[in-house]
Amino acid sequence: MPDCCAFCRAELPDIPEAIDAGWIPSYWDAQKDVEVYRPVCGQCLSRGEVIFNDQMGDYERIPVNDPTLVLASGVPV
Ligand SMILES: [Zn+2]
Repeated sequence: MPDCCAFCRAELPDIPEAIDAGWIPSYWDAQKDVEVYRPVCGQCLSRGEVIFNDQMGDYERIPVNDPTLVLASGVPV
């Protein structure tokens, strides 16, 4: 089963390709207070879906107005 981006559903390419494209393997969900083991693509990173938290040393999804709404509405593939 191919893995895909946690946000835009882009399919995870081969690992070397994924690294080149800036994918990350997991991120911290600050609202749910859990580590989410889903990859995130470079495009979603550059859109600010998750940001690098220097203090944590991890990528973090920061609470926005209502992230559940964003997730529920989904993004067309
Ligand atoms: Zn994405």
